[in-house]
Amino acid sequence: MSYADKYDAAIIGSGLGGLLCGAILAKEGQRVCILEKNEQIGGALQTFREGGQTHDTGIHYIGGLDQGQNLYQIFHYLGLMDRLELTRLDADGFDNIIFAGDEQVYPHGMGWDRFIEKLAALFPQEKEALHNYKEAVLKACDAFALYKISPEEQYDDMELLALSAEEVIASLTTDLKLRAVLAGSNMLYAGVAHRTPWYIHALIINHYIESSWRCAKGGDQIAKLLAREIKARGGEIHTKTEITAIHQENAQAIYAETKDGDKIYADRFISNVHPAVTLDMIDGNALRPVYKERIKNLPNSVSAFVINAVIKPNTSPYQNKNYYYFADDQVWDTTQSDERWPRTYGLFEAVPRHDGIHLEALSIMTYMEWSEVAQWADTEHTTLHEVSRGADYEAFKKEKGEKLLARVAERFPDLVKNIESWSASTPLTWRDYTASQDGSIYGVAKDYHDPLRTLISPNTKIQNLYMTGQNIKLHGVLGVALTALVTCSSILGRDYLITKIKQANEASA
Ligand SMILES: Cc1cc2nc3c(=O)[nH]c(=O)nc-3n(C[C@H](O)[C@H](O)[C@H](O)COP(=O)(O)OP(=O)(O)OC[C@H]3O[C@@H](n4cnc5c(N)ncnc54)[C@H](O)[C@@H]3O)c2cc1C
Repeated sequence: MSYADKYDAAIIGSGLGGLLCGAILAKEGQRVCILEKNEQIGGALQTFREGGQTHDTGIHYIGGLDQGQNLYQIFHYLGLMDRLELTRLDADGFDNIIFAGDEQVYPHGMGWDRFIEKLAALFPQEKEALHNYKEAVLKACDAFALYKISPEEQYDDMELLALSAEEVIASLTTDLKLRAVLAGSNMLYAGVAHRTPWYIHALIINHYIESSWRCAKGGDQIAKLLAREIKARGGEIHTKTEITAIHQENAQAIYAETKDGDKIYADRFISNVHPAVTLDMIDGNALRPVYKERIKNLPNSVSAFVINAVIKPNTSPYQNKNYYYFADDQVWDTTQSDERWPRTYGLFEAVPRHDGIHLEALSIMTYMEWSEVAQWADTEHTTLHEVSRGADYEAFKKEKGEKLLARVAERFPDLVKNIESWSASTPLTWRDYTASQDGSIYGVAKDYHDPLRTLISPNTKIQNLYMTGQNIKLHGVLGVALTALVTCSSILGRDYLITKIKQANEASA
């Protein structure tokens, strides 16, 4: 592998966070090099081909992409918006919450007026509660300057950070069903009653209510477009390049070392890898053990079990919407892999590529705890390491998959009948493809009891080593994009970067 003598910035990991930082720094004139351990770039944006279909892995839908909205502004500044092929989800119900034993479908409408109108039709006594919910969400969003792509400082409202999502929703209405419906898309942040902060719910839900989209040709479009921008500005992307060490002298990172012993020198380094893994890569004693311990002990969000199915041609109509199912109204208590599994699932249909009408591929996602697969923890399987985990693992996946499909068939019998073939990913898949801790889907889990503990600074004690990605501030496409702005602001200056984004958007308005 050949590398330049020295880069302005070397970025470890080509997940969305690494690619966004690379694209921003390249656009601002830096010579960038991205180092990715896998064959394919993108981390959770990767897609794979199976059964003649392309399947998404970690991106089912995205919010905030209407002109002027937050993610739009960032993507537009980076030159993505003209090329990204998107399909707007059904405005009358982009997300639809369903419950066992209740035939009613509870839609989340797009735009706040429609959101309230759709739910008020089903909960006529709760109009005021719905308006209060909207006000509470918007108030929380308003406290985060960066969410509005504004240069001011953020996270100054400690009271807000310490609010519980479950408790705030419960305070707005006594109607148990409406509470469950308002929290019904909490798979978007793996919500749990005793931990999830209200601001996490608000920031995520609001941007989907503003506008919700599917990547028409798969989430890897975003990775490919960012890679194109990076390369067009002289940047390099090296795949199959696993970084195993970051060498430092006097708290200054000097070079990153690959598994094969290559050394990559740079003025600054950004790690898109889990912070606990990043800190383990740093040699010497530059980091205080207490800091390392704190980062290592951070709780991570749960993992997932996802079925990717191929549908028999011309059988099921494509539904331009998502469903979130719950076994009962206890929507904050669904992540455990106990005998009640699966107590929830999200059903996400891929935009059909042939006639636009008939469903071709779909994902069904539920939670799965690491303990379920811990017995195979010593196995590794990626496209670079095609090692079988054994027949017992395949039998485990089959059993779990059939159980999940039986649950889906209770509500969508024809859809399940029309499945031609399916495969499943488990916590091991997420661990091996993204190096996330225990296959955690959204990284470090935020906790309203001790909010600052789980919000990590992008700066480290190594002066020229920064961190980015979902573990640092917020997960999801929007969360990782905002985190990339925080990381790059530490390098470029927040005023400078936000002004550049604003200018790019004003120029085209
Ligand atoms: C099942 C699932 C469904 C999701 N659905 C949605 C959704 O619908 N909408 C949404 O907005 N978000 C969704 N998300 C969340 C979103 O995908 C993630 O928050 C986001 O993609 C994470 O990006 P990242 O850059 O933080 O990290 P990652 O995507 O985890 O990338 C990390 C990268 O670093 C690389 N790496 C790790 N170690 C090394 C090393 N030592 N050397 C070199 N490279 C290394 C990895 O291979 C990987 O490419 C979903 C996530 C999952 C798992």
